[in-house]
Amino acid sequence: MKLPTAWAPAPQKIEARIDMSADVAGKGKCPECRQPMEIVSVSGSRMWACAKDRIVLPLPNDHQENEKA
Ligand SMILES: [Zn+2]
Repeated sequence: MKLPTAWAPAPQKIEARIDMSADVAGKGKCPECRQPMEIVSVSGSRMWACAKDRIVLPLPNDHQENEKA
């Protein structure tokens, strides 16, 4: 099917850099830079954080307290 010119895709490429896959965010790695995140305490809850990218993710519900990351 030929689309009208007005519907043609925008020339600039948009890249999704946030990787929320189980292998990255699911394992405590930053979804942006993919480096291991630090566990921080936020308002009484422990969360993964990457200070460089200013990203904080809640730990999974089944995350073990004694796991490192
Ligand atoms: Zn990061």
